[in-house]
Amino acid sequence: MNKKILGIIGGGQLGMFTCIAAKKIGLKTVVFSTERQFSAKKFCDEYVISEFVDQNNSNKFFDLADFFTIETENIPLDFLKKIKKKLLPSLNIIEIAQNRLKEKKYLNALPGVKTVKYFEINNYYDLENKAEKLNFNCILKTQEFGYDGKGQFVINSKNLDRFKEMNLNKFILEEKINFKCEISVIVVGNSKQQVYYPPVENIHSHSILRESIFPARISSLIKNKALKCAEIISRDFELNGVLAIEMFVTNDNQILINEMAPRPHNSGHWSIDSCKFSQFDNLVSVLAEEKINQPEPSKNCKMINIIGDDYFKFNQISSKYKAYDYFKKEVRPSRKMGHYVVFD
Ligand code: ADP
Ligand code: MG
Repeated sequence: MNKKILGIIGGGQLGMFTCIAAKKIGLKTVVFSTERQFSAKKFCDEYVISEFVDQNNSNKFFDLADFFTIETENIPLDFLKKIKKKLLPSLNIIEIAQNRLKEKKYLNALPGVKTVKYFEINNYYDLENKAEKLNFNCILKTQEFGYDGKGQFVINSKNLDRFKEMNLNKFILEEKINFKCEISVIVVGNSKQQVYYPPVENIHSHSILRESIFPARISSLIKNKALKCAEIISRDFELNGVLAIEMFVTNDNQILINEMAPRPHNSGHWSIDSCKFSQFDNLVSVLAEEKINQPEPSKNCKMINIIGDDYFKFNQISSKYKAYDYFKKEVRPSRKMGHYVVFD
């Protein structure tokens, strides 16, 4: 095997689990973190703490690794462009997944793939106009840098006025749909293989993922439709790495793609304990140019996030279940602090 050094951009829990998987196959890791205290700190071989705009520190990081991956898509493109040739997945897929407008345009152009109805918004006039077109039943979202429901506003005819004073440059407005359930599919691919994790069902509250249930409680018809969509997207991208695809299952059993993340995903954490090969194991296999393995799930389970104050019960939870601490410096409301897995 090619034992080069892996650079991971971002040191949160996804970076942490990537470091742990890398260590298992003898791959050294160096993490770039914008925070002093970060989840991956204890698990990487080296790290650079810096802002993205700091050229000296960025160059130092670029020199420390032979190839790079990301644990969040919210990274300035200028930073990523400097390592374009050594970056997995490709800059193209990250650029699209970073921006909800580009993402929606891209997805709807693929045959057999659809999203909710949406409009580009750049000012209050656009918002008034398009909200009416969507019967005042819609969600306003920033095009970039949103996660866990941040940068999102539910719009109706009564609260529209409140957005008059807001800078509405670079937003999109989506139809707010009533769905049957939310699911996600994770694909790991390289030029030779595409491996799919079976769909899980995702339960959100206040736009934050609370639970992922494996397997999703959907018919085999819907499961196959979801896997087909994932295949169309990942093949079109010529995916090299991990791609998580969030989907809505509509009341008339259609699949609408919600969003994509070209990195390991919270809804794939169940695979650490229930699969022979987790999303992180397979990601590092791609990076190390090794064979991607079928996940081989063994047990039905539920992955539950430990969010905000729930963290104060961590010891209690970990005495009963397989629990993971993300070693975050401080507890904040709505912050993902850890997760645990409950088997059927
Ligand atoms: P984030 O990047 O914050 O995860 P999402 O677009 O996935 O942003 O939105 C978070 C959650 O909000 C979704 O998982 C879903 O529960 C709800 N949501 C988002 N968009 C819509 C929509 N158009 N219709 C209904 N619910 C939505
Ligand atoms: Mg989401």
